[in-house]
Amino acid sequence: MSKANKKEGLRTSAVHRGVYKDSSYNSVTTPIYPTSTFFFDGLGKNKGYDYTRSGNPTRAALEENIAALEGGLGCSVTATGMAAITAVLFLCRNGDHIVTGDDIYGGTYRLFDQVFPQFGITFSFVNMRDLTQVKNAIRPQTRMIWIETPSNPLLNIVDLEAVIKIAKAKKLLTVVDNTFLSPYFQKPFDFGADIVVHSTTKYINGHSDVVGGAIVYNDKTVRDRIRFLVNALGVSESPFDSWLVLRGVKTLAPRMEVHQANALAVAGFLEKHENVKKVYYPGLKSHPQQALIKKQMKGFGGMLAFELDTKKVKLDLFFKSLKYFSLAESLGGVESLIESPWLMSHASMGEKALNASGMTKETIRVSVGIEDADDLIADLNQALRG
Ligand SMILES: *Cc1c(COP(=O)(O)O)cnc(C)c1O
Repeated sequence: MSKANKKEGLRTSAVHRGVYKDSSYNSVTTPIYPTSTFFFDGLGKNKGYDYTRSGNPTRAALEENIAALEGGLGCSVTATGMAAITAVLFLCRNGDHIVTGDDIYGGTYRLFDQVFPQFGITFSFVNMRDLTQVKNAIRPQTRMIWIETPSNPLLNIVDLEAVIKIAKAKKLLTVVDNTFLSPYFQKPFDFGADIVVHSTTKYINGHSDVVGGAIVYNDKTVRDRIRFLVNALGVSESPFDSWLVLRGVKTLAPRMEVHQANALAVAGFLEKHENVKKVYYPGLKSHPQQALIKKQMKGFGGMLAFELDTKKVKLDLFFKSLKYFSLAESLGGVESLIESPWLMSHASMGEKALNASGMTKETIRVSVGIEDADDLIADLNQALRG
């Protein structure tokens, strides 16, 4: 049933890719195969799977789905987003150098700053909005450019086309972490990226009930090496978790539409509030990178940040007063979450890097859920009274 079709829309792919796998009973959803191993029919004769770390039909179904959404050649699904990032980093060797942004996800920063340097891989953290900084950071040892856009939590936009062009001129691999917008709002392969990574924990799964990651590739050599690495490192996703993500991803498109409509409403409300100093959201006219947003994004997403006037509203009291926004890390689920990047999600960066990234102790990050916008705004309004 239903073969992949190049012209098929993303909403259709989200529902129809990675399903119809059950020829025994024709279930319309893909079964979970909770097995560690698969028996051989004879020496050298199996049905395509031998051991679940290396491959599992439920995981393969999810890989097919996500590859179709990103428009990639294939995908490897991993146990977490950090597992995906780790596997991609193993494309590098001792002595290699990577250029990346100074406002990337806190966990990625920690991995780049504190783990991979142990193996002789070095990093330059630059302001990627400034193409001169990107160019100047490239050395003879540079092997990869790691891009995250929009950035977390300040929603700065990196010019995918321009940075990838700089990378291609030097034959560097480009990796884009597309977690924040999901393929529904941004397609990095359209701009020539080599690899797209996701924390499927966020919008792809969308229900805050699983952690997972994905690596999508567009080239056979990269595919073979990544598949080798995910198996060799042992970072692949469990069949149960793969099934949950496959269930979640089917509603990616309608969820993203509601996340975005609610984020637009909440951002507009916050921008007018006297106890809010500044709002960061790509959907606001006040975002300074309008042309770039139009060029590379099909939407603005559901993440925003703002500066609370903590002289007027105490941070702790503000969080405590909220009814619908849970004080929690993570993002991209159906429920609204709120947090302090300085004290929570990005704390591991340390004060110096936090300051350099432009965050303050008053920065608040919001993952706007799919509740009724009016309820979310009323809730923020009462908490902002202080
Ligand atoms: C959450 C996140 C990650 C890490 O993913 P986990 O699933 O938590 O391991 C990486 N990049 C971005 C942009 C994220 O938001």
